[in-house]
Amino acid sequence: MEMRFSKGNDALGTKNRGNVCESSLCTLCRADCNGKCETWLSSMVGRKLLYPRSFGLVTAGANNTNHVGVSYNSLRIQGYAYGSAGLTKDMTNSPDDCVFPNVSLETEFGSKIKTKSSMPMMTGALGSTLIAEKYWDSFAIGGALIGIPVVIGENVVGVDRNSEIGPQADKKGKIVKAPELDRRIETYLRYFHGMGAIIVQLNVEDTRNGVAEYVVDKYGNKCIIELKWGQGAKNIGGEIQVRSLEYALFLKKRGYVVDPDPSLPEVQQGFEQGAIKSFARHSRLGATNLNTVSKVQEDFMNTVEYLRGIGFERITLKTGSYGMEELAMAIKFATDAELDLLTIDGSGGGTGMSPWNMMQSWGVPSIILHSKAHEYASILSAKGKNVVDMSFAGGFALEDHLFKSLALGAPYTKLICMGRAIMIPGFLGANIEGAINPEQRAAVSGNWNELPKTVLEVGKTADEIFVGYHDLEKKMGKEEMKNIPYGAIAFYTLADKLGCGLQQLMAGARKFSLNQITRQEIFSGNRETAIETGIPHVSDVNNESAKKILNA
Ligand code: SF4
Repeated sequence: MEMRFSKGNDALGTKNRGNVCESSLCTLCRADCNGKCETWLSSMVGRKLLYPRSFGLVTAGANNTNHVGVSYNSLRIQGYAYGSAGLTKDMTNSPDDCVFPNVSLETEFGSKIKTKSSMPMMTGALGSTLIAEKYWDSFAIGGALIGIPVVIGENVVGVDRNSEIGPQADKKGKIVKAPELDRRIETYLRYFHGMGAIIVQLNVEDTRNGVAEYVVDKYGNKCIIELKWGQGAKNIGGEIQVRSLEYALFLKKRGYVVDPDPSLPEVQQGFEQGAIKSFARHSRLGATNLNTVSKVQEDFMNTVEYLRGIGFERITLKTGSYGMEELAMAIKFATDAELDLLTIDGSGGGTGMSPWNMMQSWGVPSIILHSKAHEYASILSAKGKNVVDMSFAGGFALEDHLFKSLALGAPYTKLICMGRAIMIPGFLGANIEGAINPEQRAAVSGNWNELPKTVLEVGKTADEIFVGYHDLEKKMGKEEMKNIPYGAIAFYTLADKLGCGLQQLMAGARKFSLNQITRQEIFSGNRETAIETGIPHVSDVNNESAKKILNA
């Protein structure tokens, strides 16, 4: 089978370190990677990577026209030879105004209160995994500077050794201190400039620990609260790996499922002798005591009412790649409860630590889940419901992924959620910062002693390496620029490439603002994809109007 992505891309001069996924990333993405996949290199050279390399010396040809199988790579994007739509008020439809830099990428989501975003992208939830903690500054500051929503994942308070949680007599703890959660929120808010939002997730343990109450008391409506049903990578709760017995015991005391049980003498002995090298901390499954759809609905509505009652004005829901019934429940309940956003995460996405074969084999693949989400949303819309705004997630990394998924879910999709892809600039920037400023290496979690050849080919200093550096310096000023981690600069640079690429695709489809994108802007590259997505085959789209022209 011909795949769109093979290990090397000669046209762009990129090369994956490992095996390649549908997203274009490696199955295993390493924080210490010397490169150089498309996302890694784009985090330094930005929009330059929209084009084949060695201009003036080459011609280049596409290798993604075979379209076997059903995936986002089997969708293609429309282009029209006439017309234009969605130009802002101060522009006309003259060719001088209809240029791709004039495409507006601004979007908004929400039921009563609209939250704006500078482009239709948000981060996946980065929670209690070590990698989220280590590179948080890059993700949060980068996201705030770009002006997009950033999501703090589950369990951040529960796993924080320095947090203090009071007695749980009323089944909800009272958080006395949550320094890691504070750091995550405050880092984002420091650079927030009116676009984007910080979203805090709530799972079973977070609910017990009183995370919602703590967040609303301390931050009011600066934060959005997110109910968590699941994710694309796994159908059990989140996990982390723990390499210390003492920490494993701490987590067990905090109420987590820790495997193997660190309180058992035989397990402690096994750990001391080296037979057991690590523990896995798991979260609980939600809604285990609710056996009917109506009970889940009642519980969901009560929870939303409670969260509104304690003061949250904006509430979102994230669901995973469960089957059709849960998808319908998520869309219907979120719509009825007038939630602000529903993120639908399909299989084919990524993880910090999910069981590998579970991730490979469970759940509904992104394109199928998202196609059904559109179908179900349309059923509610036909009944006159104001359908909840949606964000699609699960294996997205490139600008065409943004366009295709926005079009597939139009008009309900307002954002596209990216997890692993946007972590790469965090890793890369931290490695570069640590190599250039060795005294910062530990603080930024850099993995390199010196810059590798793949980076030196781009430059030697931050302002030479990151195309986005000067633009950001102009916005932030020279002084503040010193506080911006290189990982955030890399994220900003990557977002510029993705945004510019999306603007080009939209201009080609003659759509100059996001609300003009419809399902007509994509077609299916093969018949199987047409059946599964409801997006007609490439040769069927406009076939009738084409014949009318011929017969006129
Ligand atoms: S950054 Fe990650 S996805 Fe890209 S080449 Fe390196 S390991 Fe692979």
